[in-house]
Amino acid sequence: MENLRQDLETLCLVQDYDIKIVKAKEIIRNAPHLAALKKKELDAKKAETEVQKKNFVALNSAKKEKEALLDSKEKAIGKHSSELNSAKSNDIYKTLLLAIEKEKADISIIEDEVLELLTKIDAEAVVVKSAEAALKEFEQKISEEIFKINASAKEQEEAVETFKTERDRRKAGVSKNILDQYERICEGRDGMGIALVEADSCGGCSMTLRPQLVNQAQKSTEIVYCDNCSRILFKK
Ligand SMILES: [Zn+2]
Repeated sequence: MENLRQDLETLCLVQDYDIKIVKAKEIIRNAPHLAALKKKELDAKKAETEVQKKNFVALNSAKKEKEALLDSKEKAIGKHSSELNSAKSNDIYKTLLLAIEKEKADISIIEDEVLELLTKIDAEAVVVKSAEAALKEFEQKISEEIFKINASAKEQEEAVETFKTERDRRKAGVSKNILDQYERICEGRDGMGIALVEADSCGGCSMTLRPQLVNQAQKSTEIVYCDNCSRILFKK
């Protein structure tokens, strides 16, 4: 039946567009999710940079505390030194001298600690600076990627309209009865309602077909369906 063959051949072209529409819609549907994932990546990187900044701030405040301590110890030495002049007894004098020595020893230790902190602060400053530069670059990259995702979704939205027009133009040439069956089968099958017989297998589900079905599909005297996926079978 030449008419049926023609209808099925045209239906294959209709299906090419239906598949394109399904794929385009998937890209559109996934776009917000992909963009959200990119945003999440950026947030993680920002949090990481914040932790590095916090380390830097903590080291600086530790240094400030040590410096304040140094200051108080210097003042204590000054106080004890002036008290030396008015010491009423030798014992008091000795105690003051000991106290001064103790403060000086403490100062020496604290000064070493401050130096150690300064080295760490310098190193951390380099880390923070490079982390901030990396974050800036990453931010730029993510924003470009999100832009591309959205642009692609928009592009696909326009493409869907074109695909629909092309599909409908071809659909007009197919018998209503066959078209109705095709559309019913398409539902839940990713826009694939017709399958080509390829090497005795169904091109839709890859199942090997009964020889009788292959013959019938070849003859195209009636519509035949895959036993497994129920798609309309067509052999070129
Ligand atoms: Zn099948």
